[in-house]
Amino acid sequence: VPNDLLGPAEIRALAERLEVRPTKTLGQNFLHDPNTIRRIVRTAEVGPDDVVLEVGPGLGSLTLGLLGAAGAVVAVEIDPVLAGALPATVSERLPHLADRLTVLHADALRATIKPGPTALVANLPYNVAVPVVLHLLETVPTLRTGLVMVQAEVADRLAAPPGSRTYGVPSAKAAWYCAVTKAGAVPRAVFWPVPNVDSGLVRMVRREPPTGASREETFAVVDAAFAQRRKTLRAALAGWAGGADRAEQALVAAGVPPTARGETVDIATFARIAANRA
Ligand code: SAM
Repeated sequence: VPNDLLGPAEIRALAERLEVRPTKTLGQNFLHDPNTIRRIVRTAEVGPDDVVLEVGPGLGSLTLGLLGAAGAVVAVEIDPVLAGALPATVSERLPHLADRLTVLHADALRATIKPGPTALVANLPYNVAVPVVLHLLETVPTLRTGLVMVQAEVADRLAAPPGSRTYGVPSAKAAWYCAVTKAGAVPRAVFWPVPNVDSGLVRMVRREPPTGASREETFAVVDAAFAQRRKTLRAALAGWAGGADRAEQALVAAGVPPTARGETVDIATFARIAANRA
C-alpha cells in the first residue's frame, strides 16, 4: 500500500480545489484516515492478479490504496466532477501506477460492467449499498470476492445467518451468490463529513448458487416470505402460490413446516420451495 495516502488536510484541499460540496443524496462521506484505508486494502486481500471494481471512488482515498496492491482498478463514479478529477489525482500522486486505473462515469446500479473484475472493493454510498452489491454480483460473474464498507446495521443484515434477529431479504439474497461475513467495525470519525452512523466491513466470497430453481423464481419466494414478517410461511406465500393450500403443498414438498417463518429459512431451502410450486 502506497505511503502517500490522502489524510484530512489533503482531502479538504482537494475538495476545495474541485469545489466539491459533499451531498447526502449521493452518500458522499470521504475517507481521510490512511490507517483505515490500509486496513481495508489488507482485509480485501487483493493482489497483482486481481482487477478491482471500486464503486464510488470519490476523491480517490481508497483508489490510491488499491492501486498499490491490485493489478488494475476499474472505478465507477456517478458524480461527473469526481469522475473527471480522479485520473489527475492518481497521476499526481502515483504516476507510475496511473495506467492501472480505468474510470467510468456511470451509475453503478445501471452500469453494464464488462466481465473482468475479480474483486469488489468499495466504501459504498449507503442509501444504495444493498442494491449495488446485488446488481454487481448478478451482472459481473467474474467477481470472486468482495470487501465493502456499509452502514453497521446493513453489515449486520448482509451477514446474518438464518434464525438471527437481523436475517431478512438482504441476507437471503446475498447468500444466493456468496458466503458473507462481517470483517470489523469502522468508527464515523474516519470520514469527512462525519456521517451520523457507524460503519462496518463485510467480506464476501463467491460460491455456487443453489440448484433446482432460478434466481428470479427463488427471489420471488424470498420477497413474499419477508413481505409480511410475522406471518407463517403458509400465509405469507399464499399470494405467490395461488392460495394457502398450494403454498402448504410447496412447503411440505420442500421439507419446511408450513407454520415456519421466513426468518428461519436459508437460501437453498427458499430455492427448494420455489422448485416445488405447483
Ligand atoms: N471511495 C471514497 C472514499 O472512501 O472516500 C468515497 C466513498 S462515498 C461513501 C460514496 C461515493 O459513491 C461518492 O463518491 C458518490 O459520489 C458515489 N456514488 C453514489 N451513488 C453512486 C452510484 N449509484 N454509482 C456510482 N457511484 C455512486
